Amino acid sequence: MQCTLRNALSFALKTNLRSNGAILGAVNGRFYSSGEEADIVVIGSGPGGYVAAIKAAQMGMKTVCIEKNDTLGGTCLNVGCIPSKALLNNSHYYHMCHTGDMANRGIIVGDVKLDLEKLMGQKTSAVKALTGGIAQLFKKNKVSHIQGLGTILSPNEVQATKSDGSTEVVKTKNIMIATGSEVTPFPGIEVDEESIVTSTGALSLKEVPKKMCIIGAGVIGLELGSVWLRLGSDVTAIEFVESIGGAGIDGDVSKTFQKILTKQGMHFKLGTKVVSAEKTGGGVNVNVENVKSGDKETIECDVLLVCIGRRPYTEGLGLENVGIVKDDKGRIPVNGVFQTIVPNIYAIGDCIHGPMLAHKAEDEGIICIEGINGGHVHIDYNCVPSVVYTHPEVAWVGKTEEQLKEEGVEYKIGKFPFLANSRAKTNNETEGFVKVLADKQTDRVLGTHLIGPAAGELVNEAALAMEYGASAEDVARVCHAHPTCAEALREANLAAYIGKPINF
Ligand SMILES: Cc1cc2nc3c(=O)[nH]c(=O)nc-3n(C[C@H](O)[C@H](O)[C@H](O)COP(=O)(O)OP(=O)(O)OC[C@H]3O[C@@H](n4cnc5c(N)ncnc54)[C@H](O)[C@@H]3O)c2cc1C
Repeated sequence: MQCTLRNALSFALKTNLRSNGAILGAVNGRFYSSGEEADIVVIGSGPGGYVAAIKAAQMGMKTVCIEKNDTLGGTCLNVGCIPSKALLNNSHYYHMCHTGDMANRGIIVGDVKLDLEKLMGQKTSAVKALTGGIAQLFKKNKVSHIQGLGTILSPNEVQATKSDGSTEVVKTKNIMIATGSEVTPFPGIEVDEESIVTSTGALSLKEVPKKMCIIGAGVIGLELGSVWLRLGSDVTAIEFVESIGGAGIDGDVSKTFQKILTKQGMHFKLGTKVVSAEKTGGGVNVNVENVKSGDKETIECDVLLVCIGRRPYTEGLGLENVGIVKDDKGRIPVNGVFQTIVPNIYAIGDCIHGPMLAHKAEDEGIICIEGINGGHVHIDYNCVPSVVYTHPEVAWVGKTEEQLKEEGVEYKIGKFPFLANSRAKTNNETEGFVKVLADKQTDRVLGTHLIGPAAGELVNEAALAMEYGASAEDVARVCHAHPTCAEALREANLAAYIGKPINF
């Protein structure tokens, strides 16, 4: 074995965790009261900000979290991860009943009907429960929450402008900016959140559109497109590049993903750019142009979803008051410990560099706070997993085959199809595969790419392996429960290590 997991683990325990031991213990914090100096003011309560605020309070810091919205939780809980996953889950059940998948399993469902209002209601209850849960966690951990727009006045002062117009200035030793991101607008296309919508509008449509067009076949577009496709829309995704799934997806996976979604009924117009869109009486005309040939076409739809990405959000934050200058992508520049050019002002999450993902923001929030308290700060973006919550799920961590080729790294591939996995077979969910990329000389796992059942769960095992520098042999030698889909991951590692899986 090039690197045993056990050795890696004990090494990590000795270095990372133990060296942070002194700062890991919970200290009894106390609430900030108006007029005193806080230890830290966190601006924004998304997954980055709220997690950081709780961590700070747990470490004994007098913590204030300022959030401009009425509810806590940011994009993720209010208009992102949580509502989209609620709709994906329930639309999948509907689809299973509606398409005869249930009947094929011997479960005869009567007259299947969609109650869209109720389906949306379940999403709203999930969001309400989870955002309310943060308020409870704040109380429990003694984080003081101020509703208002946070503006940095100086390195030690943040002003909160509340909904009623009143203001409160909080004096503080440290400031953490966790103001997240917003939808990137498409130049010239005006959003009304009814017929031309962003992801936010697409989470709350009042009826199922007959035809939906999506600008952008990235992660969010494909997830929301899947929701409405399953509920009965005729969905077309228009994408500038020739592949789907956005940046970071392995080419092999992307091709299989497109085939599967096409089989499900989604249409794709790849290598196509949207030029403009205009509202007609009852819908929207989308004018597109083939990138190579220049051929023009107009596509009609009832709802156009504009989904070309997200950009950092820093409006009203007062960066100019402390001399922080954003980079060319509108992000706040930070160093390795998340410090801006002002040493006591930190920034994390979607408003800085790195993948725009909730778990990345959370991790940064925690380690940044640990760093302020003397801990070791380390995050490896290469080990941050990505998941597309379609059916089947798509997930990956580490390098793609294309990236390894570009970097001139010699690699070997281990692939295992879910068709040969006993759990996938028993569940009749056999589409997809696991693909492991390992270093040709050392056998170290460099990337894992999954499309298939429970891919979003299995990728966490792959991320753990990568974090601890495991070899494909390490993963292949770990006993995996049977029958589980995780055995497909083990087999793909076995295929990468020794060249042959057992069951295929
Ligand atoms: C439809 C959709 C689906 C998604 N699905 C996933 C997924 O499945 N998994 C995943 O990992 N990621 C997903 N994301 C991305 C994820 O939501 C973000 O990466 C994540 O929310 C970023 O967290 P954050 O804390 O940096 O910022 P945000 O969640 O954007 O939170 C920032 C908060 O700061 C507040 N704020 C901003 N400025 C101020 C100010 N001046 N004063 C006070 N408050 C302020 C905002 O109101 C907001 O509440 C999804 C996004 C969308 C849109």
